[in-house]
Amino acid sequence: MRPLLLDPLFAPLDTLSGIGPKAGELYARLLGRESIEECRIVDLVFHAPYSLIDRRQQPGIANAPQGAIVTIKARVDRHHPPPPGRNNNPYRVFLHDDTGELALTFFRVKGNWLEKALPVDETVIVSGKVDWFNGRPSMVHPDYMVRESEAENLPLVEPVYSLTAGLSARLLRKQIEASLQRVPAFPEWQDAALTAKQGFASAHEAFLQLHEPRDAADIDPQAPARRRLAYDEFLAGQLSLALVRQRLRKVAGTPVHATGRLSRPVLDALPFSLTGSQSAAIKDVLADMAGDKRMLRLLQGDVGSGKTAVALMSMLAAVESGGQAVLMAPTEILARQHFATLSKMAAPAGLTIDLVTGRTKGRERDAIQERIASGETHIVIGTHALFQDSVIYSNLLLAVVDEQHRFGVHQRLRLTAKGISPHMLVMTATPIPRTLVLAAFGDMDVSKLTEKPAGRKPIQTVTIPDERVGDIVERLRAAVAEDKKAYWICPLVEESENSDLMSADERFQILKSSVGPRIGLVHGRMNGAEKDAVMLAFKNGEIRVLVATTVVEVGVDVPDATIMVIEHAERFGLAQLHQLRGRVGRGDEASTCILLYKGPLSESGRARLSILRDTEDGFLIAEEDLRLRGEGELLGTRQSGTPGFRIASLDAHGDLLEIARKDAAYILEKDPELTSERGQALRTLLYLYRRDEAIRFLRAG
Ligand code: ADP
Ligand code: MG
Repeated sequence: MRPLLLDPLFAPLDTLSGIGPKAGELYARLLGRESIEECRIVDLVFHAPYSLIDRRQQPGIANAPQGAIVTIKARVDRHHPPPPGRNNNPYRVFLHDDTGELALTFFRVKGNWLEKALPVDETVIVSGKVDWFNGRPSMVHPDYMVRESEAENLPLVEPVYSLTAGLSARLLRKQIEASLQRVPAFPEWQDAALTAKQGFASAHEAFLQLHEPRDAADIDPQAPARRRLAYDEFLAGQLSLALVRQRLRKVAGTPVHATGRLSRPVLDALPFSLTGSQSAAIKDVLADMAGDKRMLRLLQGDVGSGKTAVALMSMLAAVESGGQAVLMAPTEILARQHFATLSKMAAPAGLTIDLVTGRTKGRERDAIQERIASGETHIVIGTHALFQDSVIYSNLLLAVVDEQHRFGVHQRLRLTAKGISPHMLVMTATPIPRTLVLAAFGDMDVSKLTEKPAGRKPIQTVTIPDERVGDIVERLRAAVAEDKKAYWICPLVEESENSDLMSADERFQILKSSVGPRIGLVHGRMNGAEKDAVMLAFKNGEIRVLVATTVVEVGVDVPDATIMVIEHAERFGLAQLHQLRGRVGRGDEASTCILLYKGPLSESGRARLSILRDTEDGFLIAEEDLRLRGEGELLGTRQSGTPGFRIASLDAHGDLLEIARKDAAYILEKDPELTSERGQALRTLLYLYRRDEAIRFLRAG
């Protein structure tokens, strides 16, 4: 159970006064959650400021720099309301100090509140942005106006938070302050030596400091408060992963003895020979499974690198050893596709392979379950329906998870909860840099498929400024005359008034007049059937040039398309460009990718394009992507089951991650059930960072 201490922080966010249904929607959007029901007060505590406003400058009226935020102490001289009936004119109030005169300017003033707030002859303190016009300074709608006697009510330094349309900065700040009131004094979960060495304040203090920056250094990721919280976050993550691992490893694995009896005939019948990295990965897997420790291995390989063959060889080894193997796919469609492919590939081994998905029902399902329970079925392919209670395995030795970023830790644990402990091979398509593997999966062993299967030609990538688009169109015309196929990607569907980007629609019209009629257009605003029709025409060759938005980014497979033109390439992210480019280079003909850009390029735009031009290596691109824009987007949203960090940043706090990993291992070695005093405090930490699925695991014993 969650410690009572945390209850105030985990109360629903809309229990704060002032957050009704309407504001609730805004807060949910701000916090990246589906609805206000999912928001807790603690979420606001984690909403860190990204900047600050410094009102400490008090240069005097005459010396206030143009556009600067300053605080001015001055005496009120006179009020100039707009003339009657001219309410569109500004209301001005004039003040002076020893150096000069300042006009406060207000629009659409109702009632007489200004006379009350700024009485003539009174000394007041105002703070806001100064504008100089014709040698006179003014301040439009000051942020603060207080009487001299209330000077302490004026915050001299204010944190600035990201907002969402409709939410005022002042209200958000008020709610964050209310949330901070609920932060309790936590039991210290960090090691005293470490906090001393790193100069960490307590977690309670760190939260307060996070929201009370005094100057720019406090906003920096390296600010002590931020480092403390980042370390807490990493430790919570590493600890929960280590707990899961500890649990998974508690049960010794059953050694698998591969004989080659089944894999040899299957290998011989494959229409290709394995790549070096496929063979290496299979060797890794066999070595792991031969030992008495359970295998926990991650297989990383870019799309098309041939992970399925590695999975098959691993599963065959389990069957050779007298056991069963399962392959779990994230979707029904993928499960069916795997079933079809693997049944064909494994045919020479003469095995029984079954498919279990949510759609497998009734008699058919009963029959399959019976075969699985009796051991007649050797390999089962399916979705997570594979792990329902009704499915009982006779001797499951290996579970392969075609990860694709969809499975959270606890789905993987379902198996163990069923009392079986197969070796685990997790496959992921999106290349993940090492630091992220560590953060997302902890200490898993990793095999990488770095080679592309033989026969694939490299893609020649060039960057070309858009002034030369005429040359490209010319080349395209020539290519179409030779019956080649090309994609032409644009960032937008339609022309939009406040953008000078070329839209897909416009480009389609232009190309049609120069390239001829064998051209099609596909974009996200078309319905499914329309899209399918155009894609089919492109596949079977009626269409030779496909103008498209990024709808073709995933899943589209037209192996004889060899030209990819990406217009306004500077507008796309690295990962997206890599995916788009991956649409070509799928057949045995050489392919070209033309990145058309509109200059001048920003520094990061230039970096992205040159990385893409220099490499096709998905891992390298992912590493660079991480470096260029931080890890958040790469990992996707919180809902996807991969860790999005609230405070920690792998880029800024990478040094801490490594310490946290070691710390977590050390903690569990000393106190595997987290029962010591520090262990109890660490449980609180896990709850605070919503890593409690790992605790549930602890209790299960
Ligand atoms: P992914 O890693 O994306 O799951 P797949 O396993 O689906 O990739 O393999 C992609 C394609 O490459 C399949 O058509 C597969 O048959 C083929 N393939 C796999 N390994 C090789 C190889 N060593 N040589 C040639 N083609 C291969
Ligand atoms: Mg695959």
